Amino acid sequence: MAETTTAPVPSDHIMGVYARAPLAFERGDGVRLYTADGEEYLDCMAGIAVTALGHNHPKLVAAVKDQAEKLWHTSNIFRIPQQEKLAKLLTDNTFADVCFFTNSGAEAIECAIKTARKYHWSKGQPERIDIIGFDGSFHGRTIAAIFAANNPSYVEGFGPPPPGFVGAKFGDLEGLKELVGPTTAAILLEPVQGEGGARSWTEAELKAIRQLCDETGTLLIYDEIQCGLGRTGKLFAHEWADAPPDIMAVAKALGGGFPVGACLATAEAARGMTPGSHGSTYGGNPLAMAVGVASVEELVKPELLAHVREVAGYLNQQLTGLKERFPDVVLDIRGKGLLIGVKLATPNREFMQHARDQHLLIAGGGDNCVRLLPPLVLSLEEAREAIQRMERACEAAQAKARAAVPA
Ligand SMILES: *Cc1c(COP(=O)(O)O)cnc(C)c1O
Repeated sequence: MAETTTAPVPSDHIMGVYARAPLAFERGDGVRLYTADGEEYLDCMAGIAVTALGHNHPKLVAAVKDQAEKLWHTSNIFRIPQQEKLAKLLTDNTFADVCFFTNSGAEAIECAIKTARKYHWSKGQPERIDIIGFDGSFHGRTIAAIFAANNPSYVEGFGPPPPGFVGAKFGDLEGLKELVGPTTAAILLEPVQGEGGARSWTEAELKAIRQLCDETGTLLIYDEIQCGLGRTGKLFAHEWADAPPDIMAVAKALGGGFPVGACLATAEAARGMTPGSHGSTYGGNPLAMAVGVASVEELVKPELLAHVREVAGYLNQQLTGLKERFPDVVLDIRGKGLLIGVKLATPNREFMQHARDQHLLIAGGGDNCVRLLPPLVLSLEEAREAIQRMERACEAAQAKARAAVPA
C-alpha cells in the first residue's frame, strides 16, 4: 500500500519528540484547514497562536511571492532594508528603541537573556547574571529557555541547571521581593502564560513588578511570544497594565506562519549589545522580513484589535454558559482576549480528541486546560460554529465521564 502522510502510524524517521495526532492537512483558507480528502476542520489553535491572520492570507502570500522572486538572503553584514522597515514598525508601536531579529521564539528569549546580562556587565556589575522565572512558564526549548522556565518535565535528563536561573512562584509578589538581590539581572515573565494554561498576571501585579525592577535596577523582560501581537485585544498584553518592559521577546504571529522572531529593547537596556556580541545567519533575512512587515501592518490595525475584543467577549460569554451546563466537564474559563484557557474536569488530551471528532482543532495546556487560540480574524459567525462544536465535545466528554462512573 502506498505510504501517505495521513497514515495513522507516524513516520519512523522523525525524532519522536511529539505525540502526534493521526491527522495531516493539505491546505488552509482563513480559519479552515482541509485534509487531502477534502475534510474541513475549524482551526481554533492557529498552529499555537502563529497563523494570527488565518491561512492563505492574500497579503502575506503576496509578500512571500514578491520577495521570493527578488532576493531571499544576503547577510547581516549588509544593510537589509526590509529589516529596517520592520524594526521601525515595531519600535514605532512599542516601548522599544531597537530590535534583533531571529528565526524562532527561543532565540528571541536567548537574545533577551544575553541583552540583560550584558547590560549589567557594561555597567561594571558582571555579577548580576540571575534571571528570575516563574512556575508554569514556557520560554522555548534551548538549554537557557528550559532552565529559565524550569518546568520539571522539560528539564529532566538535560543535565544540571546552568548557573544564573532562579525559580519564583507565579503570583507571589512577596516571595519575589525576597529573591531579588545583588546578583539579579532580570525578571522574565509572560504577561499571560500560554502553555501554563492561559494564566494571566493582574494589572496591579505587573505594575508592582515594574516598580520592584525600577527600585532595584533589575531589568524586566516580557515573553510576549504567544500573548503578544494582538492576541489579547491590545497590540501587546502588557499594554492592559501600562507596565512596559525593558526587553521583550516576540515571535509566533510575527511571521503569520513564516519563522520570524524578534527581541525588542530600549536603547538603554541594549547598551551592551555592541558589534560582535551577538548574531544570527538567517535572522532578519529579506524573505522573512517582507512577510513580517506585511503581517505587522495588519496586526497593528485598531479595527483588528477591536474585533479581537468583540469576538473574545462573545466566546467568553458562551464558554461560561458551557461551564454552567457541563459542570462535570468544564471547571473554569480563563485567559485574556483570544488566548482562552478552558480548565477541564476530564482529561484534556481526551477532550482534544472529542473536539477533533467534531472537526474542531484546539490546543492543550498546563493544569489540565485546553486552549482556544483562533486566528484573530475569526468572525462572529465562525465563533458561533466553534461554540457549537465545543458544545458537542462537552456532550461527548460528559457521556464518557458518566459511563465510567457506575450509577
Ligand atoms: C512558543 C513559545 C516560545 C518558543 O517559541 P519557539 O518559536 O518554539 O522557539 C517561547 N515562549 C512562549 C510564551 C511561547 O508561547
